[in-house]
This record gives sequence, structure tokens and C-alpha cells, in this order.
Amino acid sequence: MPAKIVVGNWKMHGLQENMSELQAISISAAKSSCDIVICPPATLIQLATKLSRSFSIGGQDCHQEEFGAYTGDISAQMLADAGADYVILGHSERRENHLENSAIVKEKAIAAIEANLTPIICVGETLQQRESGQAVIKVNAQLQSSLPQNSNVVIAYEPIWAIGTGLIPTLSEISEIHDSIRGLLNKEFGPLGSKISILYGGSVKPDNARKIFGGANVNGALVGGASLKSNDFIPIIEALSDG
Ligand code: PEP
Repeated sequence: MPAKIVVGNWKMHGLQENMSELQAISISAAKSSCDIVICPPATLIQLATKLSRSFSIGGQDCHQEEFGAYTGDISAQMLADAGADYVILGHSERRENHLENSAIVKEKAIAAIEANLTPIICVGETLQQRESGQAVIKVNAQLQSSLPQNSNVVIAYEPIWAIGTGLIPTLSEISEIHDSIRGLLNKEFGPLGSKISILYGGSVKPDNARKIFGGANVNGALVGGASLKSNDFIPIIEALSDG
């Protein structure tokens, strides 16, 4: 069985004064049967690891090289050195704003695994692709070219049009994509493919989490906005634990 995982992506939010949110999350995570991962901005990773006895810490991106003249970038090894166990890769905001294609995401995933991090590889379709009936094909193609040859990964399906918008696909649309991702993982990795967690991301909130977690092959969530406040994030953890 794949692990049930809830990942909080803080994006470019969070100062030291927001660390108290982690204390509340830590209490809930300790009672939960799920794996909880918080991905704060890089500046807070070391501080966050001090509070992270019952949850893990992740980075939001890493460079594909181990070190070098890459001003402003951070390597997988540096994230691991700071205490991270996971790293989000190929988030649509990175693909769009930093022109990262799937080949680069794959290189980053290989670098992450070499540094003993678990990559959380994000894939998802645009609204135009969804409306033209291309969602399954586009997501599978994106995943196929982003995947390393190593099953120590987590996949996050995040329809781009659902991120931060309050819009979500129907449960059957979510299940259709998650089923097809599972099929691809089984084909790629054999029996190990069935152990990979597939998360849904895009406007997951306390009031829709329970329903989303009822979808086929939905093993958890990648949560943006609702991960910033423990009052929103904890009910999502509870919904997955109960399901
Ligand atoms: C995300 O950024 O990965 C995300 C899913 O954001 P939100 O939950 O705010 O839609």
C-alpha cells in the first residue's frame, strides 16, 4: 500500500514569527497515521527541523547540480544538509515562471535521490488542455518525461487551473487521472509502482478534503494556501487519517 501523505507547500510565505503554526501541526501529526511534510521557504528549513519531531521537512525546489556558480540556487545536498527529507520538483509555478521543462525536472529528481531526498514530482494540465479532452494524455506525457528510473518518488497531480483558484475537478476527473498515473507507474516500475504515493493538489481545503480523499488512487494531498494556517491544515490531516 502507498503511504498516505499530506504535504504543505508554503511557497514564498513565512517568517520566523510563523513557526508557532508548526507547533500545532506537530501535535496533530503525532496523532496521525499519515506522513506529514512541510515545505517552508529555504530560509526557515533549519528552524523548522527543530520543531519537526512528528513531521518531515521538504524543500520547494533544488538545482540539478551538486554545487557550482548558480547564484540564488540551492542544491539537493544543501537541502539534505539543512535537515530536509523531501523536495517538491516541477511545480507548475517553477515550470511557468522559471521555464523548467520535464527534462530538467528529471535531472533534478535524479540529483534529489542521490542526496537521499524523496522528490515530489508535480504534473498537471492547463485549463485549455482539460477543455479539449487532452488532460490524461498531457499529464501522462509530462510524467513519463519527468520520472527518474527510481521508484523512490512521490507524484502530485496538480491541475494548473485548480491551483489557488478555488476550482477543483470532479471526483471522477481526479480518479481518471490518478488511475492513469497508477497504470503508468506500474508499467514503469512493476510491483514497486503500486507503492508510490499519488497526491492530489489544487485548492484542497478542510471542506473538500474528505471527498477528494475518497477518489481512486488518491493517497493524499499537496496543499498550498490551506497549509499556512494550522486551523486549516489540521482538518485536512484528520480527513486523510480517518479515510
Ligand atoms: C500548490 O501550490 O501546490 C497548491 C496546490 O496550492 P493551493 O492549495 O493553494 O491551490
